[in-house]
Amino acid sequence: MPDVTVCLTFDFDAISSHLIRKETTPTYISRGEYGARVGVPRVLALLAEYGIPATFFVPGHTCDTFPDRCREIARAGHEFGHHGYCHEVPATLTRDEEAAILERGSAAIERVAGRRPVGYRSPSWDLSPHSIELLLDAGFRYDSSLMADDFTPHLCRLGDSGDTTGPYHFGREVPLVEMPVSWVLDDYPIFEWNAARGSGLASPFAVEEIWREEFDYLYERVSGGIFTLTMHPKVIGRGHRLRMLERLIRHMRGLPGVRFERLGDVAESVRPRLLEALNAQPGATR
Ligand code: ZN
Repeated sequence: MPDVTVCLTFDFDAISSHLIRKETTPTYISRGEYGARVGVPRVLALLAEYGIPATFFVPGHTCDTFPDRCREIARAGHEFGHHGYCHEVPATLTRDEEAAILERGSAAIERVAGRRPVGYRSPSWDLSPHSIELLLDAGFRYDSSLMADDFTPHLCRLGDSGDTTGPYHFGREVPLVEMPVSWVLDDYPIFEWNAARGSGLASPFAVEEIWREEFDYLYERVSGGIFTLTMHPKVIGRGHRLRMLERLIRHMRGLPGVRFERLGDVAESVRPRLLEALNAQPGATR
C-alpha cells in the first residue's frame, strides 16, 4: 500500500512581508491584515473540520502584532516554525544580523506559543551562506527552504563551494533535516497579484490540477514521500481558493495510506534514518 504523508504549511506573513519591501501604504498594510483578520480563522476552521494538524511559519513581527490570533493557532495544536522577525531575507543580511534575527524571532514565537521553534523556513526561500551553521548553533532541527528534492527529506550541507571555472564542490552533510519545498507547490506566485511582476490571479481549477497531479505522481510512484504544500492565509484565505484546498484535502484523505502530519513531526521521524546513513560515512562528500 502506498505510504504518503501530507504536510499542510502556512506562512503567516501578515504585514511583515509588505513592511520589509517598503510597501507601507494603507492598502498594502490591509492586504497583510487580511491574513490575520480573515485568512487564519478560515484556515483554522478548515483544519479543525478535517482534524488536520498543520505547521505555521510565523515571523516574530506577526506574533507581536497579532498575539491573540497566534495564540489561537497554538491552542489548536499546530506547530510554529521560524520565519524571520520581519520577513528578512537571509541572503541580504550580515552573519551577525541573521543570528540576532534568529534569536528575536524565536523569542517572539515563545511568547505566543509557549515554546521555541525547532523548524525554520527562510523568507523568500533564499538562505545565506551562514544560515545552515547558524541554525545548527541555535539548536534548530530542520529547515524548509531548499529545492534539491521534491518529496524526500534529506540532510543539509555545510561547505559547498564553486564557481564557473570548474565542477561544483558539495560540502559535508550535517544533522539538520531538510524538508524540501517548491514554488510550484506554493500559493503565492500562482495566486497573489503583484503589480511589479504582473503575476498571479490564477484559476483555482488550474492550480488544483497541478497540485493534484503532483500528489498523484507521488502517491503512485514515490514510496514514503512527503507532500508539502506552502500556503499563505492572506492568499489561500479567499473563498474560491479555500474551496479548492478542501477538494484537494478530500481527494488525498480518500486514498488508503495517506496521513496528515506537522512538518516538524515528520522531520523527527526521518531524522534517525538520515543520521544513521550520515554516521555510516564519516566525513563523506559527494
Ligand atoms: Zn513568507
